[in-house]
Amino acid sequence: MRMILLGAPGSGKGTQGEKLAEALGVPRIATGDALRAAVKSGSPLGRKARLAMDAGDLVADDLVVGIVEERLAQPDAAEGFILDGFPRNLAQARTLDALLALRAQPLQAALHLEVAEDELVRRLLARAGELGRSDDREDVIRCRLRVYAQETLPLLDYYAARGKLVHAAGTGTVEAITRTILERLSAVDGEALPAAH
Ligand code: AMP
Repeated sequence: MRMILLGAPGSGKGTQGEKLAEALGVPRIATGDALRAAVKSGSPLGRKARLAMDAGDLVADDLVVGIVEERLAQPDAAEGFILDGFPRNLAQARTLDALLALRAQPLQAALHLEVAEDELVRRLLARAGELGRSDDREDVIRCRLRVYAQETLPLLDYYAARGKLVHAAGTGTVEAITRTILERLSAVDGEALPAAH
């Protein structure tokens, strides 16, 4: 399965991405995790990304595209992948389509995890500090939600127009959400469900 996860900050993309990666046997590729690791290591990439991340803004496209390109070229991504946090704007979506076209491996699904805005803010504030993320402060959270609405939401139309969009409610227990997603994905790709289902 080759898919991306779309959803606002706090929608549970990371949690569901891990569950889906395990169930589907493909790697989860999270640009946010890769960027945080780069910041922590103090690499040139991390130094370039840090300011935007701390402000809740998007990091420059060429930096994140570089991460994704490199990661998709690894052997474990040959059978599929779950991109978590990429693409986040139309330019990134078009670049991803071009990258995958070169490999003759088009994207199969863009899964949208839907959670109401007041629930998102509640979740993000509750986890503020817990994970030690420097972007979980209220002002930065509001900025990340605004950036999502302006830059990333248009991707729903982009993928709907290409017949790739799959919706799932992001509320309920983690297990129930994962089950719903896997059911929806099996409609896209008959092989998406693990053999046990
Ligand atoms: P996340 O863990 O996905 O919420 O990402 C944390 C932060 O990393 C975001 O607020 C952005 O600053 C940056 N980031 C992650 N993915 C991308 C992306 N695809 N494009 C630009 N910035 C990104």
